[in-house]
Amino acid sequence: MLDLLIRNGWVVDGSGSARFRADVGVEGDRITDVGLLEGAKARRTIDAAGHVVTPGFVDMHSHADMTLPVLPTADSLMCQGITTAVVGQCGATPAPLRDETRAQVVAMMQSGTVPLPYDKWSTFGSFLDTLREIGVSLNVVPLVGLATVRSAVMAFSAQPANAEQVARMQAEVSEAMDAGAIGVSTGLIYPPGSYAGTEELVAVTRPAGERGGFYFSHIRGEGDTLLEAVSEAIHVGRETGAAVQISHYKAAGRENWSKSPHGLALIDQARAEGLDVTADMYPYLAGGVALVAVLPEWAQEGGKVAIRERLADPTARQKMTADMQTSGFFRIAEWDKVLLATEKKPEYEGRTVAELADAAKKSCFDWVFDTLLELDLDVAIVLFMMSEDNRRQELRHPAMMIGTDGAGIAIGGPLAKGLTHPRTYGTFPMVLGRYVRELGVVSLEEAVWKMTGFPAQKLRWRDRGLIRKGYRADLVVVNPNTVADLATYQAPHHYPAGIPHVIVNGVPVIRDGSHTQARPGRIL
Ligand SMILES: [Zn+2]
Repeated sequence: MLDLLIRNGWVVDGSGSARFRADVGVEGDRITDVGLLEGAKARRTIDAAGHVVTPGFVDMHSHADMTLPVLPTADSLMCQGITTAVVGQCGATPAPLRDETRAQVVAMMQSGTVPLPYDKWSTFGSFLDTLREIGVSLNVVPLVGLATVRSAVMAFSAQPANAEQVARMQAEVSEAMDAGAIGVSTGLIYPPGSYAGTEELVAVTRPAGERGGFYFSHIRGEGDTLLEAVSEAIHVGRETGAAVQISHYKAAGRENWSKSPHGLALIDQARAEGLDVTADMYPYLAGGVALVAVLPEWAQEGGKVAIRERLADPTARQKMTADMQTSGFFRIAEWDKVLLATEKKPEYEGRTVAELADAAKKSCFDWVFDTLLELDLDVAIVLFMMSEDNRRQELRHPAMMIGTDGAGIAIGGPLAKGLTHPRTYGTFPMVLGRYVRELGVVSLEEAVWKMTGFPAQKLRWRDRGLIRKGYRADLVVVNPNTVADLATYQAPHHYPAGIPHVIVNGVPVIRDGSHTQARPGRIL
């Protein structure tokens, strides 16, 4: 007798090939049968008539490690059909922590994020053990963040690492890899990750490359310097042997939109050279960052106290204003395209900097400096900076996968407050609803390949990512006619429609659209 039988559905098996009519039988955590299983008996049956049955989706860019210790059910991710999340992205991970620098690193990690029980772990392995002890709803593939590694070894020093510091960082990476990390991640626009030059990145990534590991990178520039930044990531892969994943690919800022196809061409060239270089994206036209990231890089140095001093100093404010208009991150956006997100000031939420500054009768720059001070830097922004035409081309690109760039949150409960980027709830359904059904940018089969079989191939899985007899039973039942993201920029806390069932390792986690509270996830 089967444990679970999904009958009457169309199977989109994750390989990219055309859908076919089949039932799917599950015993324990394995798919035991795919075919027309008439007369099969099962303890539980799902009628998937009018639906497609796909492998579980793989979120190639997840910050769920920043929420799983307090919300192991990861509702906003599960409801999208995500059964595996690659976590530990953008250089920042909750571990490793070392005694000498622990307080500083925890302070950095806590700013603008959910408070985690940092006293429960120190090494990367002990963090993974904590996740295992808690039990989580989805499978987790962990990376170790090089910003966390760097600050564990040398706090927030902006100096290049010396030989001894490089050796200690390499030892941290080796230890994390041996404890279960599949590779390293970088966030090269944020201090202290941005302090690492290319040579240092190559050196510190080497232990990952030697172990057949990965280099996931939030690259050094996504606007003016997109092409240089893509080249740097490829260079790190070529030098270290690490497989490269370029995170949340985008060309930010109208004047940089023409660069997107050139960045993709660099990826094509690297692949033609035989390097394993791929990318992921979320399908939205807006990105989201901490407001403090709009300051010139020099003004973000030295930690919170130093930043606050600059924000209060008239001379520094003048210099920041001048620099922000001529160089750096913020040239790419316009103030009327920047929405505020902060729990501390609900009246700011969903309004633009231009509106709020106007109402306060201040210049936008002064308003931003004052608001950062007022909210102790604890404020995020959503900024519209991408091109719809690019988004379509990027999604079609053969090296492109999907990543939410979100954490696991939930409607109701402590993580439901505040404006968040709607990608946290809607990334995968938006691809399937808007870009597959409404716009026909990619076929359903191709989209599912980018969400399942392709990441599985990249991550070198042997028994996940496809619907095949003997494979692990990570499965999603999707209604292709109704699947849709319902989270908006103004009201992000909405689960998507059209994804009634999500099964992880044979266990139903979403059943008839509701979370079962089951936590069958594993560290992969
Ligand atoms: Zn990032």
